[in-house]
Amino acid sequence: EKEKKISDQEKVQKKPSEPAIFIPVDRSPEVQEARLKLPVLAEEQVIMEAVRENPSIVICGETGSGKTTQVPQFLYEAGYASDGRMIGITEPRRVAAVSMSHRVAKEMNLPTQVVSYQIRYEGNVTSDTKIKFMTDGVLLKEIQKDFLLQKYSAIIIDEAHERSVYTDILIGLLSRIVPLRNKKGMPMKLLIMSATLRVEDFTENQRLFRTPPPVIKVDARQFPVTIHFNKRTPLEDYTGEAFHKTCKIHRMLPPATLQILPCFLSVEEKADGSIPLYVLPLYSLLAPEQQAKVFRPPPPGTRLCIIATNVAETSLTIPGIKYVVDCGRVKKRFYDKVTGVSSFKVTWTSQASANQRAGRAGRTEPGHCYRLYSSAVFGDFTLFSEAEITRRPVEDLVLQMKDLNIEKVVNFPFPTPPSTEALVAAEQLLVSLGALEEPPCTGRLKDMQRAKLSCPITPLGRAMASFPVAPRYAKMLALGKQQDCLPYVIAVVAAMTVREIFEDLDRPARSEDESSKLNQRRARLTQMRRLWAGQGASLLLGDLMIMLGAVGACEFAGCTPRFCENSGLRYKAMVEIRKLRGQLTNAVNAVCPEVGVFVDPKMTPPTEHQVVCLRQIVLAGLGDHLARRAQGEDLVDPKWKNAYKTPLMDEPVFIHPNSALFKTLPEFVVYQEIMETSKMYMRGVSAVEAEWVPQFLPQYCHFGSPLESPSPWFCSSTGTIRCHRSSTFFRVGWQLPAVEM
Ligand code: ADP
Ligand code: MG
Repeated sequence: EKEKKISDQEKVQKKPSEPAIFIPVDRSPEVQEARLKLPVLAEEQVIMEAVRENPSIVICGETGSGKTTQVPQFLYEAGYASDGRMIGITEPRRVAAVSMSHRVAKEMNLPTQVVSYQIRYEGNVTSDTKIKFMTDGVLLKEIQKDFLLQKYSAIIIDEAHERSVYTDILIGLLSRIVPLRNKKGMPMKLLIMSATLRVEDFTENQRLFRTPPPVIKVDARQFPVTIHFNKRTPLEDYTGEAFHKTCKIHRMLPPATLQILPCFLSVEEKADGSIPLYVLPLYSLLAPEQQAKVFRPPPPGTRLCIIATNVAETSLTIPGIKYVVDCGRVKKRFYDKVTGVSSFKVTWTSQASANQRAGRAGRTEPGHCYRLYSSAVFGDFTLFSEAEITRRPVEDLVLQMKDLNIEKVVNFPFPTPPSTEALVAAEQLLVSLGALEEPPCTGRLKDMQRAKLSCPITPLGRAMASFPVAPRYAKMLALGKQQDCLPYVIAVVAAMTVREIFEDLDRPARSEDESSKLNQRRARLTQMRRLWAGQGASLLLGDLMIMLGAVGACEFAGCTPRFCENSGLRYKAMVEIRKLRGQLTNAVNAVCPEVGVFVDPKMTPPTEHQVVCLRQIVLAGLGDHLARRAQGEDLVDPKWKNAYKTPLMDEPVFIHPNSALFKTLPEFVVYQEIMETSKMYMRGVSAVEAEWVPQFLPQYCHFGSPLESPSPWFCSSTGTIRCHRSSTFFRVGWQLPAVEM
């Protein structure tokens, strides 16, 4: 009997890794024909053999070689989805997850209940789903619920070359999960797919994989692309240059689709060619229906011209592009590691990404790529773009990892580890927010430093980790129970989390007609902002009151595109806020069911008392983003006029003219973030009272004698706030939600 047991076990072990089954797929003749042209199809046997023999493999192949659409189908046909488990594919971008699931469903002639997608707010996954496309963030959340990912028989990490933060973390986690699954007798396969050959960070990283996974190269059947460099590099006006180049191509060259990468420019449809240009934009903030247009043929008798951001660099392949105009630039968000100040900068891209862009021109026939820079400049580009994880704050990741019981985050097998500086800053912030336990202050400096990097998570931290927002906002949600403030806190947090709720009306106009229209809309938005900010007590909640007012007003009007357009709100953002409010409400209810919040889209405005409470909750979340109006001797220097001081910086920061508090200039404010444009501007500003600072932010304060100063002040050498403890404060009692462990 013992023998029988063993052989049964063996069977279990062997079944998924050596599926003898072949699941037929009913493809249409056209699909079948198109598939056969894809380079990845020639490698099907090699790939599937490697999958059978190895727990993890890496597949490299040019964009358009068929990785995303075909590899899931190979796994499906080989029976990886026939034992009740799914094949999961992660994408760094939502657009790709949605459109790829549709494409694969269509190719396989299967309904979307079987080939489905899941992104942050929506999805069509059912109990019949066999192939599931999702964003990398979605899979990370699933790991938190089930570390072994038992629903899956195989996970494909797509677009690994993009080195998005979640992709990196997922690869680190999966390098541990896959062996665990093998050990437990329910093997799982990991496939990492990359559009570039630079995969050493994954394969040659001893901390990730003890035996390097095999790398399978797919030779792309790429048509030759002729590269045309500019003789000289335009320094400033590269958009103008791109426009001229586009017109020239359109006038002189035979018709075929043209793509300009990346954009941030507008080409008017008057380029004087013999046939009209049909110009379409493509960027991630664009509404999905608009995005889908690029896959459809242009109106007869026109030439399609797509102006795209990096979205079209690798994740979406648009059929039939022959000419590419490459500005050579990339717009990236930069963060200062110490101050957290962020700014968008347009910089030169990397050689790898310039080559990706050129490659887009040779998918269906030989093509041309016009580079608006010289070959000398190209030679100075970095070879590859750096991993995102090294360029951004990591407190959200650290909290997620602590919640996965990875206490020593420094030891985590990151493909590229973030700097120790960034990790320490993250742990410090999380300790200040009460999400992690304070490290013991004894011992030698070295021990203390080590302790600082392995603080255990608190019950509050666990609750915060279950909210799908960054830790500062999660703290606000945890406190929101006070005085029936939760629905407001949820609305404000949702609005702060969504990118750009207001339309960008400060852009330059393209014509006089447009200019007057823009002016009208700007005036209208200013008026609406003033209305939403309110007066008296509510005004002190500042920009967050504007957000609250905008969300409330939009819901009151039924959240229609028309209302948004008329009020200067971005419709897509408002729809996202609505979904996020529902999701956050569910998350809060799951942590403390006795609170029982429900989303009432049409909120009544908060009472004065509630506004005070909201301001205190915001202070508790954004405590490290406190600023005080410059005063005293600072004002001798004109650069400090109307400026604010922060604990960590010597430079003045300002309240933006669009802010609700631009004219009020309260003594103390907290801000959502500082964005550097023409000046360092605080965004999302809210006023706080001086006496709240020692009361609610004791962790940031150094307490001294009451005689020193009536109001808290900053000590920039230590980055702390100095103040005295006063005995009487107006205070609304703070309670934390009861957290069940
Ligand atoms: P890779 O992942 O290697 O970049 P894909 O699997 O995304 O390649 O693309 C393979 C082929 O499928 C490409 O030729 C592309 O043009 C085509 N394709 C992908 N999505 C669509 C779509 N929605 N409509 C038409 N063709 C598509
Ligand atoms: Mg792909």
